Amino acid sequence: MQGFSNADSGDIVLAIARRIVENRGYLSDIDGLIGDGDHGVNMAKGFSLAAERLRGERPPLAASLATLGEVLMTEIGGSMGPLYGVMFSGFAEALDGVEEIDAPAFERMLRNGLEEVQSIGEAKVGDKTLIDAYAPALQAFSAATAKGESFPAALDALIVAAEKGRDGTIDLVAKIGRASRLGERSRGVLDPGAVSCTIILRTLAEGAKAKLGTSASRRLSEAQR
Ligand code: ADP
Ligand code: MG
Repeated sequence: MQGFSNADSGDIVLAIARRIVENRGYLSDIDGLIGDGDHGVNMAKGFSLAAERLRGERPPLAASLATLGEVLMTEIGGSMGPLYGVMFSGFAEALDGVEEIDAPAFERMLRNGLEEVQSIGEAKVGDKTLIDAYAPALQAFSAATAKGESFPAALDALIVAAEKGRDGTIDLVAKIGRASRLGERSRGVLDPGAVSCTIILRTLAEGAKAKLGTSASRRLSEAQR
């Protein structure tokens, strides 16, 4: 089964942090429309702090995710500190001790993260939160692997579904969190958490695809040596 090395993939977390920091202004602007405008600021602060701790150390993916989860949990404000804190800790826990991350391991990671987020936040699909990007992304990934599609193809399906779910939040009314206070007036704009969650899932999936590419070509050149 096709997989990538946990030990060599900690830099995926740095890539996620970079993408979040790049989108700082955009995420806060979206939050300004139906929330308090702090989403990008909070996120950028937490993710850059975690990146600082990780830089130069090169820990495995599981350990890097654990550091990120811990930093978010303890250092950032807003709803996202605890929600993304438990999500990344859930990812880390599922990958702990896994040497080669194959599609079933990746799926367990995603499932564990989602369960953690829902266990503290209790949001369901349709409530206009990050769950509206996350749940369909996981579902698309498992459906693709269940159909026998390759790991990279399942990662592509995940990205497409996350983006579709994110865009679908435009038509939803917020049922939970700060934006729910607006009722009907929360309709018509993207949910900021669904946007940041899509950035995270996309960067994770692209990172995994890149690692799979390099491990396949390494295996080929070893076979031809
Ligand atoms: P705050 O709302 O405290 O200002 P942020 O602006 O950082 O926090 O994050 C807002 C995002 O948090 C929302 O767009 C939504 O996606 C997400 N969110 C809020 N509450 C929940 C929840 N209970 N479950 C899942 N996601 C939630
Ligand atoms: Mg906010």
